[in-house]
Amino acid sequence: MPSYKNIVLECVQGNITKQPDISAIVNAANAQLRTGGGVAGAIHRAAGPKLAEECRAKAPISPGEAVISGAYNLPNQYVIHCLGPVYGQDKPEEELLANCYRNALKLAEEHENDSIAFPAISTGVFGYPTREAATVAFETIRDTLEQLESVKEIRFVLFSEEDLRIHQRMLEEIFKPD
Ligand code: ADP
Repeated sequence: MPSYKNIVLECVQGNITKQPDISAIVNAANAQLRTGGGVAGAIHRAAGPKLAEECRAKAPISPGEAVISGAYNLPNQYVIHCLGPVYGQDKPEEELLANCYRNALKLAEEHENDSIAFPAISTGVFGYPTREAATVAFETIRDTLEQLESVKEIRFVLFSEEDLRIHQRMLEEIFKPD
């Protein structure tokens, strides 16, 4: 498995709700932290209604912000909810998307998670082009790796084969293996 500064960094095709070996999964949330379509719908369905209950007190959040909750019926310990920027609307979108990854990793560290799984935040209904979003994601992670102490594994879970291919290519461009 590819590792960089002793941290495993990988891309897989799959469903973010089916990552039982990961301690914290990231939700591509909406501002109200409610269920919805895409990742948020899948996470809330799999976690059960207690997730929405806990989230109610933490909402609303703004673009780039991240909050952490329990994972309830999901096979993980935590869900980290990030609000990505709506492409062409929330500006500067690169910085806001980078903040999502930075803030999610910070929360994962504060709660001593050893592993975290991300979906491709903002690339669904929020319309961020996948290649550009992947560049922001991996550059931000590259610049954060040195600060990680608890987190030893970062996984990107991509829904489609094409998104997987794009992410794998960007990962190889941005990271040089140990
Ligand atoms: P956003 O509102 O931030 O754009 P979406 O949930 O609409 O978030 O989509 C983000 C990305 O996650 C899209 O590429 C979408 O295809 C993908 N996706 C949707 N459902 C899942 C899932 N269950 N697991 C992993 N990725 C998913």
